[in-house]
Amino acid sequence: MSTTVVPAVTRRELASGQVLSLVAGQWLPGTGGARPVLDPATGEQLAEIATLTDAECDAAVDAAALAQPAWAARPARERAELLRHVHEVLVAEQEDLARLITRENGKSLHDARGEAAYAAEFFRWFAEEAVRTPGDMRRSPSGRNWILVSHEPVGVALLVTPWNFPAAMATRKIAPALAAGCAVVLKPAMETPLAALYVADVIREVGIPDGVVNVVLPAATGPSVSRMMADPRVRAVSFTGSTEVGKILLEQAAHTVMRSSMELGGNAPFVVLDDADLDAAVEGFMLAKFRNGGSACTAANRILVQDAVADDFVARIRERIAGLRHGPGLDEDVEIGALVSTVERDRVAALVDRAVAGGAELLVGGAVPDGPGCFYPPTLLDRVPADSELAATEIFGPVAAVTRFATLEEGLALANDSEAGLISYVYTAGLERALAVSRRLESGMVGLNCGLVSDPAAPFGGTKESGLGREGAHEGMLEFMETKYVATPYS
Ligand code: NAD
Repeated sequence: MSTTVVPAVTRRELASGQVLSLVAGQWLPGTGGARPVLDPATGEQLAEIATLTDAECDAAVDAAALAQPAWAARPARERAELLRHVHEVLVAEQEDLARLITRENGKSLHDARGEAAYAAEFFRWFAEEAVRTPGDMRRSPSGRNWILVSHEPVGVALLVTPWNFPAAMATRKIAPALAAGCAVVLKPAMETPLAALYVADVIREVGIPDGVVNVVLPAATGPSVSRMMADPRVRAVSFTGSTEVGKILLEQAAHTVMRSSMELGGNAPFVVLDDADLDAAVEGFMLAKFRNGGSACTAANRILVQDAVADDFVARIRERIAGLRHGPGLDEDVEIGALVSTVERDRVAALVDRAVAGGAELLVGGAVPDGPGCFYPPTLLDRVPADSELAATEIFGPVAAVTRFATLEEGLALANDSEAGLISYVYTAGLERALAVSRRLESGMVGLNCGLVSDPAAPFGGTKESGLGREGAHEGMLEFMETKYVATPYS
């Protein structure tokens, strides 16, 4: 481990110091070795993580297990007030958090500000939900018993989050878990640990007891997470990330029959029908495709446009995409920042190259720019074959792939031709047609004439291989609760 890097002891130092895990309310210097956090816009080192060994991660589970009963026993109103306080601090410090997100993730400040606000909002929403835990008392139809139904915290929860929304994916899990009365161990993506640590430090500062929220930064993610998954004290796992890793965790969860929430990959169709309001469709498309530089599980991935409006729609989006300003995310006028790493940039570039070699028509972008940083330009491909690799792959970058179709039935069949089922978008004018199409789209969420669906008050989640369970809304808290039933004689 380097001795020249000074530990970051306040959240404002996170982007310049040695980054430690947060265990039992203390910053824990791990002995697993140093790992850099890189700035994707420059390739330079931002911070250095002192990673934890597998065994050191156990201390976080110990701390959560110790803190859990007292946290669950706190009156819901008290827990809610603490969550509300976290929301207030995150709102007051939104700009600091946004800049940190941009620095470690590469996204534009505009996107980072949106994420910081969205991340804070989960604490407000779940502060409000914490005091509305459902329960009821029924009389058995036989007349014999009272049936008392309550919802109890599931216990210690393991939370694993990706790099694309490093703050919001953490708060979308921490806030409902805390509202439900659970203590947590969070394992953020190692590319982007800083935003989650920032949030954890706010949580510590407002007086949420030590050990209720722990953040671990292991040297070896797979072995450390599987060790925690095998710990019988961990009763729930909530994961956001790739379908591939989600399946690994589901297998591990089977060993202790652990409660599992999975928010996995998407491959969203964005369907533009011949009666769509094209002005609205273009606006919705720009949001659905280019928010977060396309690195979103909800990003429009297959742009399916009916022949009658395809030339017009493509011409319009071509102009808009060519006009997007891309560059270092901290520049105020930049709309599309850097991808998170050279690995991601090279993956996206190779995907586009193969699509062009396979017959797709390149209309905008398509070449990695010279110079430092993980940049890839906003790119438009037309006439992408529906059975191509590109159409089957979650692009996760600023690349729009248009496929044209003739009839409504053909469009629907193409939209549903995916193992992913997170979200679909459809633009159409007629109410009956809109509702019928929304019903037939095989996904957990539908953006109906709407390019942005994420909302802490809405149940976010997918069908098919896009996941299990829902986050946000009332449903998000129930993911961290067990339904309990007590029978007692009717009197
Ligand atoms: P990833 O699956 O590689 O990593 C996600 C998290 O899992 C990270 O913290 C990573 O360190 C950890 N991880 C990696 N290998 C692991 C293993 N063997 N065992 C345990 N943990 C492991 O995903 P990513 O590349 O960080 O994120 C991109 C993916 O996340 C995309 O597929 C995207 O669609 C998905 N995503 C889904 C949602 C959603 O809500 N559905 C939201 C954001 C991102």
